[in-house]
Amino acid sequence: MALVTTKEMFKKAYEGGYAIGAFNVNNMEIVQGITDAAAELKSPVILQCSAGARKYANHQYLVHLVKAAMEVHPELDLVLHLDHGADFETCKSCIDGGFTSVMIDGSHHSFEDNIAVTKKVVEYAHAHGVVVEGELGQLAGVEDDVNVSAADAKYTRPEEVQEFVEKTGVDSLAIAIGTSHGAFKFTPAQCTRNENGVLVPPELRFDILDKISEILPQFPIVLHGASSVVPEYVKIINAHGGKLADAIGIPEDQLRKAATKAVCKINVDSDLRLALTAGIREYFDANPQHFDPRQYLSPARAYIKEIVAHKIKDVFGSDNTL
Ligand SMILES: [Zn+2]
Repeated sequence: MALVTTKEMFKKAYEGGYAIGAFNVNNMEIVQGITDAAAELKSPVILQCSAGARKYANHQYLVHLVKAAMEVHPELDLVLHLDHGADFETCKSCIDGGFTSVMIDGSHHSFEDNIAVTKKVVEYAHAHGVVVEGELGQLAGVEDDVNVSAADAKYTRPEEVQEFVEKTGVDSLAIAIGTSHGAFKFTPAQCTRNENGVLVPPELRFDILDKISEILPQFPIVLHGASSVVPEYVKIINAHGGKLADAIGIPEDQLRKAATKAVCKINVDSDLRLALTAGIREYFDANPQHFDPRQYLSPARAYIKEIVAHKIKDVFGSDNTL
């Protein structure tokens, strides 16, 4: 069994033209659904916890759920990653508490302050064998404690990346090229309609991604806010009492394209929430007399496994790479 860092994983992914899925975990069913899918498809996987997850489940529970998954699937390479570390203290407590990777999100600071806090985390992390993801540029949307309005969101400036990476020593970099946090990434007015009448958001800024990878060859890039907001699950939710109007995500063909380029890690949170909720709503609609959590959480967990398998195989291309 191996709880590993992303170092080797990203190197192989970069060279192989695929990306590793980073899935947010909050409870046992989510950890099981993700790791069962990854094991079946022989794919490495990153399990990540946000500040909200640590508040909800307690750090200890999350670490031990992941350790349990490692015992059940000794053949898997797992990374335990902190998503959106807000400050040095949060990152330090995760590094001390068994995580193998942390993100320090200094993107809301000035360029200089972002460098300073990221460098501080990198020094502590590297001394403890842990890798660090930094962020340059700001995504729009809502994710737990992170809330940036569309007007404030700004694309990563390629002219800043080299100085940032050199001065901080980060191992990977999250960039803003048009993805967005949450299940409502775009307003219908920002989208066009395809031949089937489906809303299609503006294309990701691949020109920025390409420029960054020219400046930083072989350097792993991370995409946040990259759920596709799977229409099938939105449909199930709405057909069984939910009200998710105009939920719009990133089209999967664009994520596939990003995975073949410098993007080595693609974050998925909203799609897991939708899958879990779809499973529970569908179950209760059909079985309103039931109240055993094992009954309604089983199909929810099966949907988690289904969506993770789909991402690994059809979008990220990380299957059979262990
Ligand atoms: Zn994020």
